[in-house]
Amino acid sequence: MSRQEFDAIIVGGGVMGCSVAYHLLATDPTLSVAVIESDPGYARASSALSVGNARIQFSLQQNIQISQYTFEVFERFAEEMAVEGTAPDVAFKREGNLFLVDAGKRAPAQEALALQRQLGGEVEWWSPAQIRERFPLFDTTGVEGATFGPGDGHLDGYALLMGYRAKANSLGANYVEGEVVEITTRGGKVSGARLATGETLASPIVVNCAGAWAARVAATAGVQLPVDPVKRQVFVVDTEVKPETPLPLVNLVSGLYFRSEGEDRLLVGKSLAEDPVGFDFVWEEKRFTEQLWPELAAFVPAFDRLRVVRGWAGLYAVNTFDGNAILGEWPELGGLYLANGFSGHGLQQAPAVGRYLAELITGTDPTLDLSVFGPRRLLDGRSLTESELI
Ligand SMILES: Cc1cc2nc3c(=O)[nH]c(=O)nc-3n(C[C@H](O)[C@H](O)[C@H](O)COP(=O)(O)OP(=O)(O)OC[C@H]3O[C@@H](n4cnc5c(N)ncnc54)[C@H](O)[C@@H]3O)c2cc1C
Repeated sequence: MSRQEFDAIIVGGGVMGCSVAYHLLATDPTLSVAVIESDPGYARASSALSVGNARIQFSLQQNIQISQYTFEVFERFAEEMAVEGTAPDVAFKREGNLFLVDAGKRAPAQEALALQRQLGGEVEWWSPAQIRERFPLFDTTGVEGATFGPGDGHLDGYALLMGYRAKANSLGANYVEGEVVEITTRGGKVSGARLATGETLASPIVVNCAGAWAARVAATAGVQLPVDPVKRQVFVVDTEVKPETPLPLVNLVSGLYFRSEGEDRLLVGKSLAEDPVGFDFVWEEKRFTEQLWPELAAFVPAFDRLRVVRGWAGLYAVNTFDGNAILGEWPELGGLYLANGFSGHGLQQAPAVGRYLAELITGTDPTLDLSVFGPRRLLDGRSLTESELI
């Protein structure tokens, strides 16, 4: 079997793997970087199955700052990622995010709002009357108000992934189709990766960017990660009554969310406690008709007449420890870097995470210090709190 050597091997070529590869090569063009991807058509990659939301409405300072950086990157993404005159279009539409708040959520929502504003974010507090004035179809019974981020919005996740991939490729990243079945180690350090074909690749650095498969990949090196693959479903519906203007992403107190998709469709979803853990991609329309539709129609009575057009199921990589990203070198295995556990908000974090991981690996001072997400917290039992949003 052949054996190739690299400065860094990235397991998983989704948006995280491609962003890390791009940032490594942008930082040091002499590096040799391999990206191993088992599903190069990205049929099951979360990056291609996400609903593409990006918001500064988080409650943890670093999550807010990550999104602020993402918004800056989107401004110049086409120009920066152009390859031989072809520029990607991530189609970032700043149609806003509206988070509804009831009495119980008012204090934490206002605390988060104050922090977002303190960090320079433009987020507004709307009373129920303001919500109804802007969106007359909404029934605000039981709602205390809402936070509205006019700069939040949604993008095409697949385009973001392919933008990073094409640019990393043009800078010399080696994309390898294959499945990593073992992260190999020697003397307490990473030594490379073995593929299902039996081929081995040598490297002192392996970056786990395997998304919902992250725990499985880490386990091959004896590392237990608290990251579960959890099925999440999305529904595209055609309502008989159309809103007059595009709807922002509206997040109800229960966690049900919906937003306009194109001219006349809506995207709807909700994370449910009973969503199964495992690699299950079966989409079930009855999930919508039985559980989500009644709730949607209670908030927007005009949506009691609609048609389900299509939908899909994908996987969240849920960090069961604290729901936040796990970023950095695993303290008990030198050379194993993690970019895992994004728990449903990783797409919007890919620009900052890729840059941060590249800075850590190349020993460059971090532009945005994300050490709060370091994996040591898992070993020390220190969890990071982020309010439950979507
Ligand atoms: C329905 C849904 C909605 C979402 N909505 C949002 C949203 O609105 N906003 C947001 O920010 N995020 C959202 N997310 C989350 C977001 O999609 C993810 O956090 C992000 O895409 C993670 O990127 P990734 O590269 O880590 O994972 P992925 O895109 O899943 O890529 C991981 C890759 O690793 C590969 N791989 C796995 N194991 C191996 C192996 N052993 N060898 C080789 N390759 C391997 C897989 O094939 C896969 O392509 C959503 C996700 C879903 C499912």
